[in-house]
Amino acid sequence: MNSHVSPGGYTGTSPHWLREPADVNDLVSILWPSTARKDDDGVLHIGGLAIPDLVANVNTPAYVLDEADFRERAGAFRDAFAGYDVYYAGKAFLSVAVAQWVAEEGLSLDVCSNGELSVALRAGVDPRRIGYHGNNKTPMELRRAVDAGVGRIIVDSFHEIDRVADVATQLGVVQGVMIRVTAGVEAHTHEFIATAHEDQKFGFSIASGDAFDAASRVLAQKSLELRGLHSHIGSQIFDTSGWEVAGRRVLALHARIADELGRVLPELDLGGGFGIAYTTQDDPADPAVLAAQITKIVTGECAALGIDVPHLSIEPGRAIVGPAMCTIYTVGTVKQVALDGGAIRTYVSVDGGMSDNLRPALYDADYSCTLASRASSAEPVLARVVGKHCESGDIVVKDEFLPGDVAPGDLLAVPATGAYGRSMASNYNHALRPPVVAVKDGRARVIVRRETEEDLLATDVG
Ligand SMILES: *Cc1c(COP(=O)(O)O)cnc(C)c1O
Repeated sequence: MNSHVSPGGYTGTSPHWLREPADVNDLVSILWPSTARKDDDGVLHIGGLAIPDLVANVNTPAYVLDEADFRERAGAFRDAFAGYDVYYAGKAFLSVAVAQWVAEEGLSLDVCSNGELSVALRAGVDPRRIGYHGNNKTPMELRRAVDAGVGRIIVDSFHEIDRVADVATQLGVVQGVMIRVTAGVEAHTHEFIATAHEDQKFGFSIASGDAFDAASRVLAQKSLELRGLHSHIGSQIFDTSGWEVAGRRVLALHARIADELGRVLPELDLGGGFGIAYTTQDDPADPAVLAAQITKIVTGECAALGIDVPHLSIEPGRAIVGPAMCTIYTVGTVKQVALDGGAIRTYVSVDGGMSDNLRPALYDADYSCTLASRASSAEPVLARVVGKHCESGDIVVKDEFLPGDVAPGDLLAVPATGAYGRSMASNYNHALRPPVVAVKDGRARVIVRRETEEDLLATDVG
């Protein structure tokens, strides 16, 4: 199985997984994009650019996206899962440039709103390679998606089946759909639970028979073409045992639909959720290892059921964009706080926070960070990096060792913020959402600009 421990688990003032590094200046390579390195002065470089030079132009906070690393990760999934369709889950992070990279790397794209669809279409993504998700797509959104010619709509309720059928009939097309099913498996972080996770808003339950009923309902609609079943079991998953249980249940339904409804569904989607390293406690598997394990699970189960293996697809989001991006902040204040028992925690405040990375507040997520603008020979101290918002839960990095001389004006870089960082960013406290700067071969390109006060005031019509 795995050797992961549950997050939290403090012993004294630091979580038990956090080790004082031999050299606090070093980068832990699994956390960083492939082109990240530090020079002899301790200055962080990404994509051939020195971070202090970059932020001299774009200011902080800023997200820095390593284009080569993004393309490598996309390509690694494409190659490892050859024979599958790989849908990049755009909700992790989507912009016009990124949608173009996704298409250029030969991946398909998942969206879950008309806003994401607009970005994909503006990027010139082939609509036939777009999947459309969501548990409450409005008739207007569905009309736009069907009209645009999206390849598949993943239906999530009986109401929606009728709605998509109506829209397709009105537009005179046959719309490809997948049925989102709930396999009663919830995989999250370091463990999975195989029962009692039907109690959630997504999908049709296999156990209750709803998923089977949904299939017969779709098959009865002339304006719909049922492409297959779709199962997404969670996020930040580290081992394939959850897919094994879910795969067995989903394929049993797939076989039952062939038997009882006389329709062999051509496709099957296994969802996303492949884990990445946010800190040294995470140990993600290589896409090639995942592909071999998942393919073995599905082919084994199909053989046992005596059915052909359907055309498979997966939907990684985080595992492609997460580690490709980091966030750069400037330190504003440093404070020593005495803890019970006499220990000291160093609070380092930076110029962003929960408005540019909600995951620590939302999921109690752990991150890591490093001093990006210089080397230090000071003794490491246990630090907590916090944002500038009016919430005590506004934490950027809960626990990390930083050099004891960390000071106002230093730059800090937080790795692995690419997924659900910018995409969940808010204007809380009327913060201006930071830019995304793509770097490659020594060149920087702003692909999403920083918001301005004019942007904020534009929607405030008095
Ligand atoms: C969120 C989501 C994904 C992507 O999850 P990651 O953890 O980013 O890989 C894929 N499929 C569906 C249906 C999702 O909701």
